[in-house]
Amino acid sequence: MSDSKQHPDKECGGSFIESVAELLPEGGNLNMCLTCGACSAGCPATGLEDMDPRKFLRLAALGMDEEITTTPWVWMCTMCQRCTYVCPMQINIPQLVYQARQAWPREDRPKGIINSCDVALRNPGHSAMGASSEDFKFVVEDVLEEVQSEQEGMEKLKVPFDELGKTYYLNQNSREPVTEPDEMVPLWKIMNIGTGEDWTYGSNGWAAENYCMFAADDESWEKIVRTKVKAVEDLGAKIWLNTE
Ligand code: SF4
Ligand code: SF4
Repeated sequence: MSDSKQHPDKECGGSFIESVAELLPEGGNLNMCLTCGACSAGCPATGLEDMDPRKFLRLAALGMDEEITTTPWVWMCTMCQRCTYVCPMQINIPQLVYQARQAWPREDRPKGIINSCDVALRNPGHSAMGASSEDFKFVVEDVLEEVQSEQEGMEKLKVPFDELGKTYYLNQNSREPVTEPDEMVPLWKIMNIGTGEDWTYGSNGWAAENYCMFAADDESWEKIVRTKVKAVEDLGAKIWLNTE
């Protein structure tokens, strides 16, 4: 990808930052930067592609829309929000980054993120790894059986699945059942001790990840979130826990 890449739907003439400010309460404080640099100091993407959050915001404030809507740096931001937490003016830089991502035609966005979003849309659990709900349940039962038989004091460990009326509905990142199934076990123990087994996994919308958000694909992001909310409601759970 080149920094000088042109996008047909890019904003021009300094209007980008204004269009983002219109979306945010109080305008996201986007024009209140003190240039203190606190955001850049803690940002994991600082220095990549010769960019950091303070510089990105300055470029936007100066109306350099071509630069901010074409820099590949926006795809290196993890959306961790650390910059907003440390900013004395609570400036919402991730929202600016998100809108800059949307200036990219979908076919030019990073293939890994787009493919993960597309895979998730094709299965009812919305697993970006493509794991079916049956496979998820099978792996959970298999690991549970192993823990019950091999770990002292864990003979009666339970992992509720599709149980009605529990307080918590727990999502699970699908990387664990697919590649590191044993890593689910500490979470089960924490949930059982912390809630008195008052939680459940579900067959629908069970995967915690949502790459459609990172892909800046609003429509698909919303579709996935709606499926997950419905899954929680269908099981009558009161609280949705997403470990992502
Ligand atoms: S949200 Fe993005 S810009 Fe802000 S600290 Fe995290 S990686 Fe950096
Ligand atoms: S932390 Fe906030 S005020 Fe300081 S440079 Fe970053 S955006 Fe500007």
